[in-house]
Amino acid sequence: MTCLKPEGAAPGATGPGGLDFNPFESMAPRAPDATPGPLRNGGRVKGNDVTPAGVYLPNNNILTPHMRSPDYVQMSTAAAITLGIMSGKMYRCACTRCLNLLLTYPEGCRANCAYCGLARHREADRDYADRNFIRVDWPAVPMERIVEIVASDGAATPFHRMCISMITHPRSEDDTFTVLKSWTDRIAPETVPVSILSNPTTMSRADVARLHDMGADIFTVALDAATPEIFDRTRGKGVQSPHNWRKYWEILLDAKDIFGPKKFGAHIIVGMGETEHDVLTLVQRLVDLGGHSHMFCFFPEKGSLMDHLPATPRDQWRRVQLGRYLIDYCDARAEQMRFDDCGRVTDFGLPQAELDAIVDSGIAFRTSGCPGKFGDDVSACDRPYGDSPPSDIASYPFQPAAADLRRIRHQLDMEKPGEAYEEGEELELEDEVMPQTECRKMAGSDS
Ligand code: SF4
Repeated sequence: MTCLKPEGAAPGATGPGGLDFNPFESMAPRAPDATPGPLRNGGRVKGNDVTPAGVYLPNNNILTPHMRSPDYVQMSTAAAITLGIMSGKMYRCACTRCLNLLLTYPEGCRANCAYCGLARHREADRDYADRNFIRVDWPAVPMERIVEIVASDGAATPFHRMCISMITHPRSEDDTFTVLKSWTDRIAPETVPVSILSNPTTMSRADVARLHDMGADIFTVALDAATPEIFDRTRGKGVQSPHNWRKYWEILLDAKDIFGPKKFGAHIIVGMGETEHDVLTLVQRLVDLGGHSHMFCFFPEKGSLMDHLPATPRDQWRRVQLGRYLIDYCDARAEQMRFDDCGRVTDFGLPQAELDAIVDSGIAFRTSGCPGKFGDDVSACDRPYGDSPPSDIASYPFQPAAADLRRIRHQLDMEKPGEAYEEGEELELEDEVMPQTECRKMAGSDS
C-alpha cells in the first residue's frame, strides 16, 4: 500500500479567471443529493452486520464490518504505516509523529461539510469506513491493539503526540472519554501527550472541562472556514449540515478558559473563498486570545461537494503560510502587513533580511498543527499529503530541502538572484528518506 494516490486535481498555474487566488464567488459547493432511505444511517453495514476481525483496510473488496468506537477507531494511513500494522511507503518521509485517530460508526459523521470526504451525503456511495478524509484512506483498528503497541514501545515510540478526532455523532463525547481513558491508563502523558480535535456542535463546556481533567493536553476546534459566510456555505445551512459558527466560537472560548494559553487552537482551510486578509486577521485574533492556528490548503476531494472547484493556487497558499508563521511565532502582527484591494499580502512588514532568514529556515512551510518534541513551531501532526499530492506539496511533512525552498521562493515570487528554481528539480530527491529504523524500533509491531 502507499498513500500516494493518482491525482487529477493539482492546482493550475493560476486560479479562476487567471487570478492567483480563489475568490468567494467561484467557490460555491454543489448541493448534496438525497440518500435513499434504506442506505441512510449506515443501513447497508448494519443490515449486513458482519463481525469485525481485527484491522480493516478501506476498500478491501469485502463487506464492510460493523465496527464501532470506542472498540474500534480509524487512523491515518501514515499512522498505520508508522505503527507497523500496514506496510507502505511515503514519498520522502518514513513515518509520521502524530497518531491521528478518528471515531468510527456505521452511521458515520452526521455532518455534511462540503470539502470533506467523510460527509453524510456520501453514504449511498460508500460505507463510512471506506470513505477517505481528505486524500488519504483511514484503516480501522481495534483500540486495544493500538494501545498495546504504543505502550510496549514505551519511550522508543515514534509518536510525539496522539490526537482523537471526534465526529458529529450522538456517541461522540462518551466514546472520546473512553478512548482517552484507555490511552492514559497505559501511556504516560509525558511520553505521548493527547490532543482533541473536537466536535463543538454536540459539546458543552462541561465536556471540555472533563477532557482537560482526564489528561488531554491540547484542545482544537476545526473552524475550517475563515469567515461566518464561508462557514455557513460549506458546513452549515448551505449544505444541510448542522454546524454553526457561533457555537464553534463558544466552545473555542471555553477551551481558552479551561486549557489555557498555547493549549488551544483552531483549524483553518485556506482557499475556500476568503481573502488572505480574512485568514491572517483570524490568525491574529487567535494569537491575541493565546491560541494557535493550524492550516490546511483546500484540496478538491473527489466525491465531496467541492470536487469541481480548483485547489488553492500555490502563491496564495504560500503567502498565507508565511504570514501565519510570522504572526504565530515571530511576533509580527497582521496590522503591520499590507494588503491589496483583493486582500492579498503585498508586504509582510519585516525587513527583507529578516524575512529571508525566516523563509530559508523552511519551518513556515511545514505542516502546521500541535507541537511534538522537536520544537514549539514544528508540528508533531505532519499529515503527509493530506492537503496536496506529493508532486505539488502544499504542507511539507518534512524539513524542506534546498530544492524545495527554491520552489517555495518561486511560488512566493521571492527568488534570490542566481538561485532560480528549475521545474521538477525537487522530484529528484525522492530517495532522500529517513530510514525506517530512525522512526520506530520495530519491536512491538505484530504486522
Ligand atoms: S464534521 Fe468533520 S468529519 Fe464530519 S463532515 Fe464535517 S469536516 Fe468531515
